[in-house]
Amino acid sequence: MEKPLPTVSRARAVEPEPLPAVSVPPVADEEPPLPTDDFMPSVEIDEVVPQAAPVTDVSRLDWRELRMAVASCTACELHKTRTQTVFGVGDPDAEWMIIGEAPGADEDRQGEPFVGRAGQLLNNMLKAIGLAREQVFIANILKCRPPDNRNPRPEEVARCEAFLQRQVALVKPKIILAVGGVAAHNLLKVDTPVSRLRGRVHHYDDTPLVVTYHPAYLLRKPSEKAKSWADLQFAAAVAKGEQP
Ligand code: SF4
Repeated sequence: MEKPLPTVSRARAVEPEPLPAVSVPPVADEEPPLPTDDFMPSVEIDEVVPQAAPVTDVSRLDWRELRMAVASCTACELHKTRTQTVFGVGDPDAEWMIIGEAPGADEDRQGEPFVGRAGQLLNNMLKAIGLAREQVFIANILKCRPPDNRNPRPEEVARCEAFLQRQVALVKPKIILAVGGVAAHNLLKVDTPVSRLRGRVHHYDDTPLVVTYHPAYLLRKPSEKAKSWADLQFAAAVAKGEQP
C-alpha cells in the first residue's frame, strides 16, 4: 500500500504542480558529492506550500529501483541545476541512519553526502562511538543541491520526501540521527531550535530520532562539540534500547 506523504503543517496549501513521472530507466551510475559547510538552523515554514502531490508510488521499490527513480527525478525545480542526484551511501541494513539537509557543492560534484571537512568531522564523530562510516546509512532530506546552498523550500521537501521515507523503510534503522536544524525541522515538522530538540527521543514514523548539531556548525563553533558528543552517546543508548 502506498505510504501517505507527511503533511507539511503551518502553511497554506495550494494546488500542486503536476509531478513528473518517476520513471525507472537503466541505471545511471551517478555519483553525488559532498555536503556544504552551511549550517542552516531554520526552515522557511511560513511560505506557501503546495500540498504534497503523490510521487509515483515508490513505496514498494527495491534499492536499485529507488536509486534509478531518484536519478531520473524531475519532480521539483532542483533537477534543472543539479550536476547529479545524491542518493545516499552506506550499509543498507544499518542500525544507524544519519540524515542531513541537502547536498552542497562538493556533494553535487561527487555524488555522495557528507564529504569534505564536515563529512570528515561526521566520520570522526561516528568513530568516537565505535561506528565506521560504512556501518551507517547517510542520506539527506533533498537529493539535489539547492542553488547557492540556500535552504530547502517546503515544496521541494514535500516532493522529495517519499524517497527518504522509502530509504528509511528499507534500512529499518534502530536510530535516526538528524544533524542540523534543517534536517530536524523537516523530519519532525517543527521549528523548535536544535538546542531545545537535543537530549530527547523523537520519532520519525515509528523510528526513534535524536537531534544534534550539523558537523559544519561544529566546525564553526568547536565549543559545541561536547554537546554533540553527548548527543551521540544519548543516541547510542537509544539504539541499544537503554533510553525510553
Ligand atoms: S530534490 Fe528530490 S524531488 Fe527535487 S528533483 Fe531532486 S530528487 Fe526530485
